[in-house]
Amino acid sequence: MNEENIIVKCNRCGAKNRIPKKRLHEGPLCGKCRAPLEAHIAPVAVTDQTFNQVVLSYPGAVLVDCWAPWCGPCKMVAPVLDQLASEYAGRIKIAKLNVDENPMTASRYGIQSIPTMLLFKNGNQIDKLIGALPKQEIVRHLSTVL
Ligand SMILES: [Zn+2]
Repeated sequence: MNEENIIVKCNRCGAKNRIPKKRLHEGPLCGKCRAPLEAHIAPVAVTDQTFNQVVLSYPGAVLVDCWAPWCGPCKMVAPVLDQLASEYAGRIKIAKLNVDENPMTASRYGIQSIPTMLLFKNGNQIDKLIGALPKQEIVRHLSTVL
């Protein structure tokens, strides 16, 4: 069987590690400095309480999807985000913020309509994507942070 590998950059020493996708859930360590590697192949839920830690303190790129359960267009975008989380694993973290449950963060970033996607790099917001954009359009924005 063909084993799919992804490259995960170590947050501590910057070493690039080649990790089989199926081993990501085992909590792999950096081959050089033994720090835990952070890579997700599915979107990560983020809240008002964890936003600083999950998004702002992350030394890399994070796409935050602001959504709510009653929002139809958000449901259309959800499978695209699942695909992107897998395709960009180790390069861009995909996070999801439920705006109904986390009004502080939604208000802080001026979320007027959903879905809205916020793109961060090294803790700084560098882009805002409004609406249920097609995958190729989201990818175009993501390519600017790689
Ligand atoms: Zn390392």
